[in-house]
Amino acid sequence: MKKIVFTFLGLFFLLPFQIQATKRPQNVVIMIGDGMGLAQIYAGMVVNGNHLQFERFKSIGFSKTYSANNFTTDSGAGGTAIACGVKTNNYMIGMNPDSTKAESILEVAKKHKLSTGVVVACALTHATPADFIAHQPNRNMYEEIAADYLNSGVDVAIGGGRKYFEERNDDRNITAELKSKGYKIASSLDEVKNQQDGKVIGLLYEDQVPAVPARGKMLPESAVAALNILDNNKKGFVLMVEGSQIDWACHDNNAEQLTKEMLDFDETVGKVLDYAQVHKNTLVIVTADHETGGLTMPGGDMKRGTFNAVFSIKGHSGVLVPVFTFGPGADEFQGFMENSSFKTKIEKLLKF
Ligand code: MG
Ligand code: ZN
Repeated sequence: MKKIVFTFLGLFFLLPFQIQATKRPQNVVIMIGDGMGLAQIYAGMVVNGNHLQFERFKSIGFSKTYSANNFTTDSGAGGTAIACGVKTNNYMIGMNPDSTKAESILEVAKKHKLSTGVVVACALTHATPADFIAHQPNRNMYEEIAADYLNSGVDVAIGGGRKYFEERNDDRNITAELKSKGYKIASSLDEVKNQQDGKVIGLLYEDQVPAVPARGKMLPESAVAALNILDNNKKGFVLMVEGSQIDWACHDNNAEQLTKEMLDFDETVGKVLDYAQVHKNTLVIVTADHETGGLTMPGGDMKRGTFNAVFSIKGHSGVLVPVFTFGPGADEFQGFMENSSFKTKIEKLLKF
């Protein structure tokens, strides 16, 4: 009888704990492959021997990417939808269509005492990272976007674009201002990796980040470095990681470069999944802001790992993009969704 009571009590106490431990994430990593449609993912898979880290995802959905004023979104409106939960006009950054400020998931997380970060393979002032950090009517306002880092509260930011912080028309030095706010400014990947805690802005390049292979393992290693720092906060964190240049290769209709950028992003996804497999309170979301190039592949050779690429446009297309999720709460992102629904789903899972 004693044994039965004990077992019953054990179940009573353990069961809710286990449910909470597996159903609710504390950490969320949002990974955006800029311009990454299904064809871009398959391009990487074909040249990589019919295999990608992406295949570790079991939970898959589709995101509708149209913006407030266009069938085909740009990265400003596409990223704003993901970050801030609102469909806005093309070229806008972290704003509603009426130019009022839209709060990003990183800003909400900060209010709830979580740590936040952005890691990108482009300038920190470029549209996608800006959508999570800044509030400006036009994505080309790089200097204004750089200054918005001061108010973002972000704990870790790694990318390029140093000159927009330092060589400015208004003569302000934003990196100096960030330092006075307690930030460590790193100028190389090694300097970033040496940081174990605190607030770090890695401005690794003067302007844009070079393409693969010139930038080496900058993206996967920066993602791991950011996780290492953000991990110190026991309340959790929200991190955005962008494979920024899948889009650029597709604008150039360059299939070979696209596969290099796609595999670099896939390697980064693999590193984040490795982290999430050990830290089971981590939800990983991988999606795109839009497809670029209208890429199709009417033929190819799986044995040789080659495909025939046909790009239909130099710009973006309006098709659905895939959504892959792993970890607690992954189920919430199955099926079809608006690109503006990510923020609410994440807030609900994080119990904000
Ligand atoms: Mg981008
Ligand atoms: Zn683009």
